[in-house]
Amino acid sequence: MTEHEHVRVAVIGSGFGGLGAAVRLRREGVTDFVVLERADSVGGTWRDNTYPGCACDVPSHLYSFSFAPNAHWPRTFSGQQHIRAYLEHVADVFRLRPHLRFGSEVKMMTWDADKLRWDIETSSGRLSADFVVSATGPLSDPKTPDIPGLDSFPGKVFHSARWDHDYDLRGKRVAMVGTGASAIQIVPAIQPEVARLTLFQRTPPWVMPRVDRAISAAERRIHQTLPLTAQIRRGLLWGIRELQVQAFTKHPNQLGLVERLARQNMARAIKDPETRAKLTPDYRIGCKRILLSRDYYPALARPNVDLVASGLGEIRGSTLVAADGTEAEVDAIVFGTGFHVTDMPIADRVVGADGRTLAEAWKGGMEALRGASAAGFPNWMTVIGPNTGLGNSSMILMIESQLNYMADFVRQLDVLGGRVALDARPAAVRAWNHRVQERMKRTVWNTGGCTSWYLDANGRNSTVWPGTTSEFRRATRRVDLAEYDVLRAGDRENAEVTA
Ligand SMILES: Cc1cc2nc3c(=O)[nH]c(=O)nc-3n(C[C@H](O)[C@H](O)[C@H](O)COP(=O)(O)OP(=O)(O)OC[C@H]3O[C@@H](n4cnc5c(N)ncnc54)[C@H](O)[C@@H]3O)c2cc1C
Repeated sequence: MTEHEHVRVAVIGSGFGGLGAAVRLRREGVTDFVVLERADSVGGTWRDNTYPGCACDVPSHLYSFSFAPNAHWPRTFSGQQHIRAYLEHVADVFRLRPHLRFGSEVKMMTWDADKLRWDIETSSGRLSADFVVSATGPLSDPKTPDIPGLDSFPGKVFHSARWDHDYDLRGKRVAMVGTGASAIQIVPAIQPEVARLTLFQRTPPWVMPRVDRAISAAERRIHQTLPLTAQIRRGLLWGIRELQVQAFTKHPNQLGLVERLARQNMARAIKDPETRAKLTPDYRIGCKRILLSRDYYPALARPNVDLVASGLGEIRGSTLVAADGTEAEVDAIVFGTGFHVTDMPIADRVVGADGRTLAEAWKGGMEALRGASAAGFPNWMTVIGPNTGLGNSSMILMIESQLNYMADFVRQLDVLGGRVALDARPAAVRAWNHRVQERMKRTVWNTGGCTSWYLDANGRNSTVWPGTTSEFRRATRRVDLAEYDVLRAGDRENAEVTA
C-alpha cells in the first residue's frame, strides 16, 4: 500500500458482507476500490469459527448469495469448511483477488470535511477513500466475560471463535461456558472424546430439532443441470421463513405451539425430570435465538456430562465456581460467550464530521438510517448495521438488500457529480428509528421475558429487524435524497466567508 493512495471506495472486511459489496461494486462498473481485511484470507465468520461441529443454522441453499448459487452444497446445513470454501470460490469467480488487502486492519478513519473524503489508517499503511463500506461483521470480535480468578487459571482457555486446534481435548476435564448457538454445536461434538464436560448454563435456550441430511448426488446433479430447481428450493426456504415473521413480530402468543414441539424435542432425550426442569426456559420461545440441534440434548444425557444451571462466578486455581456455589475442577475452559454486538469495536475507530467517534454518537444506542448511514458520518455506510439482524432467516438476504442501497448510494454520488458527499439528516435517522422501535414494542424479542444479546446496555433492541426480509428489501431499494444533506467541496469555506 503506497503512502497516499486514494480510492473511490474502501470496503472493510471480507466476510459475506465485504465480498458481496465487492461483487456489487464491480457490477456497478466501479473498479477503483479495495477490500481491507485484518486477517490473511477471506471468509470472516467462516474463517474464524473453526470449532468442532461448526455449521450454519439456516439451510445452505438460502444461506448463500442469490447471485452465486452453489449446486454442490453437501448437506442441507453445511459445515464451516464448505462455507469457507464457497467464499474463497466467490472471491475467485468474481475476480476479487486484485482488490483484497490482507493484513490491513483499519485502526482509525477520520472524515476530512474539506476534501470530502475518509482518511484511513491501517496496520499496513494509510489511504483515503471517497466512500467507505464498513462490513466488519456483527459477530466478529469475541467477548470473554471478566471472571474473577481467570488470569490465574493454570489450564487452557480459549473462545469458541478462536479454537486452539493444537490443544488436544481428548481425556481432559473441560468446562463449556455458555449455551448459545456455538455452544450447542460444540457440546455434542466434543462430548464423546473428553473425560468430563461441565456445562455452565446461565439461561437455557429453546432448542428445536435440526433436520440436517446429506444432499444426494442425484439432487446435486439436478440442481446443476436445471438451475431453476435450486432457485425454487431457495424460494421455498425463504417463503416458509417469511410466513413465520408475523408470529415473532406481532403475535408472540402463537409461538406457544412451537414451545410444545421444543419441549417434546427435549423430553425425547432427557428422561430425568430435574434435569428437564433445569433445561426448560422460563421465557417465550423466540425471545432469544431459537437454536437447532438434534444431538445437543442426547449429549447432555451422557454420563460424562454435568449440567450446572448457573453462570460461572469465580475461578480458584483450577476450580470453577458457579454463581450458585457448584464447583468443578477442570483442565480447560471454552468460552461460548458470544461477541461484541451492540458495542462493535469498529465504532471507536470512526471519527465523523464533528470530531466525535461513532461510539460516542451511539452512546445512547446504535442507530442508523435504513440500517446503513449514521448522521455526521458522510459517505459511510455499514453492512449489517443497527436493526438489520434476523431471528429466523438468512442474513445474506439482509446483506444483499443493503448492497442494493450501497449501489444506489454510489449511483447518486455519480449523478450529483463533482466532489460531493451525502450525510444522513438527523431527523431522517430519528424518524426511521422511531418507526423501528415502535414496531419493536410488540415483538417477542422485547416482550418475551428474556434478556438477550439483541438488547443493548440500555435495554433497547438495536440489533433485530422487526419485519419481513421483503419489507427490508423494499425499504433499501433506493437512496432517498430527501433523507440526506448534500455536501459539496467548498461549502465550508463559503459558509465561513458568509459568517
Ligand atoms: C458461528 C456462527 C454461525 C453463524 N451462522 C449463521 C447462520 O446459519 N445463518 C445466518 O444468517 N447467520 C449466521 N451467522 C451470522 C454471520 O455472522 C453472518 O451471517 C455473516 O457471516 C456476517 O458476515 P459479515 O461479512 O457481515 O461479517 P463477518 O463474516 O464477521 O466478516 C467481518 C470481517 O471483517 C474483518 N474486520 C473486522 N474488523 C476489521 C478491521 N478493523 N479492519 C479490517 N478488517 C476487519 C474481520 O476480520 C472479518 O473478516 C453466524 C455467526 C457465527 C459466529
